[in-house]
Amino acid sequence: MIFQIDIATLTSVSSVFYSILLVLLFLFWRQNKDIDAILWWCGFPLFRIIYSLISSDSINYGNDLIIYIGNLSVILSDTMLMIGCLKFTNMDIRWKIIYGYLAVFIAFSFYQYFSGTDLAGRTKLVVIIDLIPIMASIYALSHLENKAYAIEKYFTIFWISFQIAIFTFWILINFNFSSPTLGPSIIISLAFAYLGHIFITVGLIILTIAQRRNQLLSESLKHKELERNLERVLEVAQAANEEKNLFLTNMSHELRTPLNAIIGFSESLKLKYYGELNEKQYEYVDNIYGGGELLLKLITDLLHLSNIEEGKVDIFLEDVNLNDLLTKTLPLLQEIVGKDSDRLKINNQISNTEIATTVYIDQIRTKQILINFVSNAVKYSENDKEVLLELVDYDDDYYRISITDHGVGIEEDQYENIFLPFNRAGIDTTTTEGIGVGLSIAKNLIEEMKGRVDFVSKFGEGSTFWIDIPKSKQRQLPIS
Ligand code: ADP
Repeated sequence: MIFQIDIATLTSVSSVFYSILLVLLFLFWRQNKDIDAILWWCGFPLFRIIYSLISSDSINYGNDLIIYIGNLSVILSDTMLMIGCLKFTNMDIRWKIIYGYLAVFIAFSFYQYFSGTDLAGRTKLVVIIDLIPIMASIYALSHLENKAYAIEKYFTIFWISFQIAIFTFWILINFNFSSPTLGPSIIISLAFAYLGHIFITVGLIILTIAQRRNQLLSESLKHKELERNLERVLEVAQAANEEKNLFLTNMSHELRTPLNAIIGFSESLKLKYYGELNEKQYEYVDNIYGGGELLLKLITDLLHLSNIEEGKVDIFLEDVNLNDLLTKTLPLLQEIVGKDSDRLKINNQISNTEIATTVYIDQIRTKQILINFVSNAVKYSENDKEVLLELVDYDDDYYRISITDHGVGIEEDQYENIFLPFNRAGIDTTTTEGIGVGLSIAKNLIEEMKGRVDFVSKFGEGSTFWIDIPKSKQRQLPIS
């Protein structure tokens, strides 16, 4: 009697554990669907539950078919364990062998059913057939790397092997389960077998956690490697950039010396210090002078850009009266459009009240940017087209100075390149002088001054370039 109750208790307690672990495994699979071994492993506790439900009442069955279904559940449970282990270790699965194996067990079971085999005979068959998936699972798991799965691997292998120890005990007692003297030890062996299954399921869960952990680890290692590579590439790029800047600086200095001589001598010839020139001579000397000036500007721009990139340009920020700045800059801008030209129009929307408007900028750099914008407006539009300079109180933080022209405009697919150095935005480089650094310098400078730069343009109709210059903190200063 005690024997019966104990088996029922054992099976129902273990079923509760199996169910909890089954739910855990299944939830784990839902979050890690890429590890398909988990789904197969779910079959391990699932078939154990079916077996437990059947075997809890086994003492009341004779040679009923349900007993064989219970035995088949044991075999299926360990087959699922094996398939999961093979999948987990990326080993080949020979499905035909597995089907054949199950077919052999079913065939033998039928034979036993019809020949009325007793409990000992039935258990012998289960033990022999069940050894195959158990051994295969141990074999598969033994392939896991010790470094990555040390504890998880040996924990699971230990509890799977433990089943073999229990089978050995049953073989030793010659499957004599009905012996009254052996009763308690059989119960203990059964309890250990169920405990073993619970620990195997726990082992499967920690194996999958270990795999996730290893994946995360290797991903973070890859990330670190990538970061290191990026740092190396950045260092190489920085070194190359420094070399380029050094080359530009040296070259500009070397070029400027002979160029200054060309400009100086051609200017003195032009000014007729050394006697009169005929018309042709004057024209050529003027060309030499103009070409020299242009070359000097280009070289200066280049040098400037490389200095900005190297952070060698000093920015001197101070509170500046905006209207004052405009007054000082206008003659320079007028010179660019042509001294006597009336192309340059001004629209100053900031009233010059007694308390004047102040900005926090570097005066010289701001002038440089405006000169750049106006030069471009002139360069990229026809001679008679108006160039408009507007000054507006943009918002609480910025004043906006914009230069509008009615020139060639910029094609939309070039918008993103406009401020890149050495980019000429698709302009015909053979006919329009320039090297494409002016806007890039302007952007760098205004950003150093905590301002902004941008533009709008319509191809064939014209462009507006502007800078937003930061208002001074102590906003209102008396007019100087
Ligand atoms: P550069 O004038 O020497 O080419 P910039 O950096 O000043 O160099 O200008 C870059 C490019 O932007 C120019 O080559 C030109 O294609 C375009 N661009 C600049 N300003 C204007 C403008 N006002 N109208 C049309 N295109 C312009």
